[in-house]
Amino acid sequence: MPAVARRKADRRVTAVPDPEPLNVHAALQLVQHAGLALPDDAPVGSTPWLQALIDALCQLSSRDPLTGLSNRRPFELTLARELGRVARAGEQALLLTLDIDHFKRVNDTHGHAAGDQVLKAVAEVLVDSVRPMDTVARIGGEEFAIVLPNCLPAVAPTVAERVRRRVAQRQIALPEGQTIAVTVSLGGAFAPPWVRSSPTLWLERADRQLYLAKSRGRNRACIEPVVSSVVSAEEKGLLFAAPPPAQDAA
Ligand code: GH3
Ligand code: MG
Ligand code: MG
Repeated sequence: MPAVARRKADRRVTAVPDPEPLNVHAALQLVQHAGLALPDDAPVGSTPWLQALIDALCQLSSRDPLTGLSNRRPFELTLARELGRVARAGEQALLLTLDIDHFKRVNDTHGHAAGDQVLKAVAEVLVDSVRPMDTVARIGGEEFAIVLPNCLPAVAPTVAERVRRRVAQRQIALPEGQTIAVTVSLGGAFAPPWVRSSPTLWLERADRQLYLAKSRGRNRACIEPVVSSVVSAEEKGLLFAAPPPAQDAA
């Protein structure tokens, strides 16, 4: 075989086939249904267009469609990130879990659409009641959580009380024209500084306080007491003083 023909044959054998065209139909349908726009100026299938599609899918998979809050996925990532930071730097971080009181009654009395309206209104109040750096998430049906980095134990009751009060004060207009108010119960726990913990454990501790708030009558906040790790001068003396001389046995 002449050399030129051999080179052509080799190319045929070793040539990488064109990649299969991506099937983005389902992804596009979801993104368009959610009302998210893709850039008009980027050609379909180009890298900027695909990046915009990926960003839109990330947004869809991390947001609760009803309230627009973070869903459980980014919430758990935030918990893990904060635990790491607190363990490394000893900074304080508070987790609040919240549950709407007697929410089933709202659905039973006013219907599911009214219940949805209440969930949206409570979500709005929560976002407006905390700092932009805090993460507000919907973690269950009528259950929410707030992660507050860099929060001192002394201010935790004030923050929880502000959230509780603002929810109770919010007048919520229902689709049928009525206005109602709801209350929430809150539980809080701080991430343990300087030690490794797990998101599950942290959430369980906050939830234990939430159930305490429910059992004490609802529409209240319970925060797990912070065990002080400050050692007094007297305690240091006892810990590090030389041991007393051994008594001779009689
Ligand atoms: P408690 O004070 O003990 O928390 O009582 P509760 O009635 O709030 O709690 P329960 O667990 O009995 O009821 C929660 C209700 O939340 C039942 C469920 O139908 C409703 N729910 C969950 N998700 C949604 C939602 O997305 N929309 C609406 N409208 N209701 C929801
Ligand atoms: Mg609940
Ligand atoms: Mg409830």
